Amino acid sequence: MSDDPARALERLYRELLECRRCPRLVAWREKVGRQKRRAFQNETYWARPVPGFGDPAARLLIFGLAPGAHGSNRTGRMFTGDASGNFLYPALWRAGLASQPQASGRDDGLELHGVYITAAVRCAPPANKPTRQEFAACSYWTERELALLPGLRVYLALGRLAHDALLERYRLAKTRHPFGHGRSYRLPDGRVLLDSYHVSRQNTQTGRLTEEMFAAVLERAKELAGLG
Ligand code: SF4
Repeated sequence: MSDDPARALERLYRELLECRRCPRLVAWREKVGRQKRRAFQNETYWARPVPGFGDPAARLLIFGLAPGAHGSNRTGRMFTGDASGNFLYPALWRAGLASQPQASGRDDGLELHGVYITAAVRCAPPANKPTRQEFAACSYWTERELALLPGLRVYLALGRLAHDALLERYRLAKTRHPFGHGRSYRLPDGRVLLDSYHVSRQNTQTGRLTEEMFAAVLERAKELAGLG
């Protein structure tokens, strides 16, 4: 067994791909993969749990909610292949955290610098709404993944549900640590939880989250994480 962090993550992901703990999500991810969206009829959907992605030496963790049915559930990489990713990755590139602005699939050559991306739930949920039990089940994988990312200093939670999942991990009360775009909290282990509105189309197309707003959050995250 090697201690190399990248290999340890690879081993974890091989295990993750076999996960069927959540029957509702297993059925949904596979059904979406069979039915497909018309625009992607000729593609083979991933339709499995979606592993995290990025730099094993990351200081900044971007923590999302769950894979999109026709985005990550199709391409097999977090935030890749839908409107959320089309907003997130160019922003990371402009912030100097990604090697290129485009993200189209697992083999597109994209690399992240100092950043890792994962989600609270790793299988696409119907209506983007995992149940409480599904959050709890997938926290098993979050714990194992975080244990392999010891350099993390900052969590950037995309949306309230990702924020709440991290509070749950630290047994912190939501009432005392409410979600708010741009808010930050020092966690018991010294890491910082920083919030942003989710990069969903619903937020970016309505102007709730603009490129400028997200760029400011990324700059704050870089500063807190000690990233160039
Ligand atoms: Fe497993 Fe997480 Fe998918 Fe549930 S959501 S089946 S725990 S990988």
